[in-house]
Amino acid sequence: MRYISTRGGTEPATFSGVLIDALAPDGGLYLPQTWPEATDWSGETSMASAAAGVLHLFAGQELPLDEAQELTEAAFASFRHPDVAPLKRLGDDHLLELFHGPTLAFKDVALQIIARLFERHLKARGGHLNVVVATSGDTGGAAVAALAGRENLSITVLHPHERISKVQRRFMTTTGAGNVLNLAVEGTFDDCQRIVKEMFADRAFTKEVRLGGVNSINWARVAAQASYYITSCAQLGGTAHFSVPTGNFGDVFAGYVAKKLGAPVGELIVAVNENDILDRTLRTGIYEKRGVTPTSSPSMDIEIASNFERLLFEAAGRDAGEVKRAMADLSAYGSFALESDVLDRIRDGFRSYKASEADVAELMAEVLESHGELIDPHTAIGLHAARKRREDGLSGPIVTLATAHPAKFPEAVQAATGQAPQLPGSEEELFREEERFDILPASTDAIKSAIRQHALLLF
Ligand SMILES: *Cc1c(COP(=O)(O)O)cnc(C)c1O
Repeated sequence: MRYISTRGGTEPATFSGVLIDALAPDGGLYLPQTWPEATDWSGETSMASAAAGVLHLFAGQELPLDEAQELTEAAFASFRHPDVAPLKRLGDDHLLELFHGPTLAFKDVALQIIARLFERHLKARGGHLNVVVATSGDTGGAAVAALAGRENLSITVLHPHERISKVQRRFMTTTGAGNVLNLAVEGTFDDCQRIVKEMFADRAFTKEVRLGGVNSINWARVAAQASYYITSCAQLGGTAHFSVPTGNFGDVFAGYVAKKLGAPVGELIVAVNENDILDRTLRTGIYEKRGVTPTSSPSMDIEIASNFERLLFEAAGRDAGEVKRAMADLSAYGSFALESDVLDRIRDGFRSYKASEADVAELMAEVLESHGELIDPHTAIGLHAARKRREDGLSGPIVTLATAHPAKFPEAVQAATGQAPQLPGSEEELFREEERFDILPASTDAIKSAIRQHALLLF
């Protein structure tokens, strides 16, 4: 299996190549050169086995199936629930709980796997890796939990200063591990992501510090996330639709990948908060930036949904020229327009709904009242979209991805429901330890020199 860039300007790369590189040298995102033949996944109810199967399909001989299985089992051993991603019934609704990992958000699923893929790669090839990641709140904690203290690896996290929850921040700033560098960037998540992309585009710098990436632009991460779509369909015994709280479009794109692999994934519902650029795009065909508003679901406060580029490439019949044109328009004018045939193809598999802050609060309160359950604001946005879609006539099970534990967003949950969600375990530790982070301007040069210094101390 080889990987090509959505912008068409790179030689086909190997699985380990795209694992380490994350972003293609031409600024595009990697996708398999061809999709593997569809497989029957109907008996695949185990997360470790599904994830191993998917990784082996995409890595081929680079990761034999038995080694993949060992790796995914080790990765999921850190989860608090034996099913890793249990499916829960809530009246007419299905919730897929993806928050039983060490940092209480779905990002743990892929990052626990990626950390082990990195380690395996470095063991075979030697050397070290400086992993850098931009976070809207949850990826950072998951990456730190997965990589803290690992040999020959360092992790630098860029988070938007004062735009994430305290619990989110503490998950990444309190480990005390020497190989963790936290940078609070004076800007938005989009600034953090832009800086990471600029660093990867600087090939000299990438080589100099041996930069590695784990944002959802990393193909291995998207691939790993396809596993829970597969197990959900298998558990429900057939076709299931999915409602996905969406920011960077990585998670919902993983649903598309699962469908490509042969899982009976029905419609993919893109659920967004008041930062509704994707909803507007699906409705009007125009992707247009208007600025980011902070909400109670900070992990979705995003305007540049990087993984949308992957869907664009697919829907445009894999025409890299069309993707390049769109991305050039986006950086020059802050918007691009989809061709009508491309928009039609996207609408064929995807729908979108937006939830206001009032919708989110109302639904959190209603779920507590009707089912005695607390859900987090991101999950509420997904559930809101699933219910809207059912009202609009979609039949069959709709699985809402419960992307975070309510205790990760205690202020918002308490304000909406009057109840304080309990952290499942490590609460005291999280609030006892000293935080470590530096505040820096949203300047790529400033970030680069901080990473250089950190790397010099370590390697
Ligand atoms: C990251 C995140 C999302 C958005 O996922 P994307 O892959 O960026 O679309 C939604 N909810 C939570 C809790 C998250 O951490």
